[in-house]
Amino acid sequence: MRLRHIPGSEDAVFASPYVLASPEQHRGRFGAVFGNENPIEIEIGMGKGKFIMEQARRHPEVNFLGIERYPSVLLRAIKKQEQSRLPNLYFMCVDAKLLPEIFAQGEISRIYLNFSDPWPKDRHAKRRLTSPGFMEAYGSVLKKEGTVEFKTDNQGLFAYSLASIPEAGWRIQWYTKDLHHTDAAGDNVMTEYEEKFSSMGNPICKLIAGR
Ligand code: SAM
Repeated sequence: MRLRHIPGSEDAVFASPYVLASPEQHRGRFGAVFGNENPIEIEIGMGKGKFIMEQARRHPEVNFLGIERYPSVLLRAIKKQEQSRLPNLYFMCVDAKLLPEIFAQGEISRIYLNFSDPWPKDRHAKRRLTSPGFMEAYGSVLKKEGTVEFKTDNQGLFAYSLASIPEAGWRIQWYTKDLHHTDAAGDNVMTEYEEKFSSMGNPICKLIAGR
């Protein structure tokens, strides 16, 4: 993602009522943030937030938490949420590697990874959000029957993930290399990157993994 520094974005992000400034304080008690015990789903690397906002709108019976590490990117989503005021959506400005410190075991029902950075060089493989280290972190916060849903147009990252996820002890429950031409296309909510890359003719890959 192209990053443009937005002066003051950090202050604006942490001042928003929709941002959990110290998310680890809610560990094991995130239901209290939403005022209910509905299932919690998170999107890691949510960018400007189109996907998670539409999911929250379509599923009021689910609580959503968007995770993005760059304040200047998160600010765009916050501005939209300050207008929409969806009661089942909050954000955190943190790195996904901190997930086990933020959530208790089994607190999360589903994790979405959408168009994660591919990190094509071998020496950066550990930074890929489907690498074994991250899969272990997801396993420590997900419910036993919880799933990870991953979409990308990057063929290299998708091939890597089809191998790295089972190597980390997970099972690929379903996958496609052309999501927009499957029956699942009807329920699919497109992300900003998905709109851009599919309009260029790139097929969209998706997998669902569980344990
Ligand atoms: N999901 C959005 C979409 O599909 O339009 C944005 C995709 S963009 C390529 C990837 C986003 O993930 C960036 O905004 C980046 O800052 C964020 N990101 C990458 N690694 C992350 C990490 N370890 N923790 C939190 N966010 C991360």
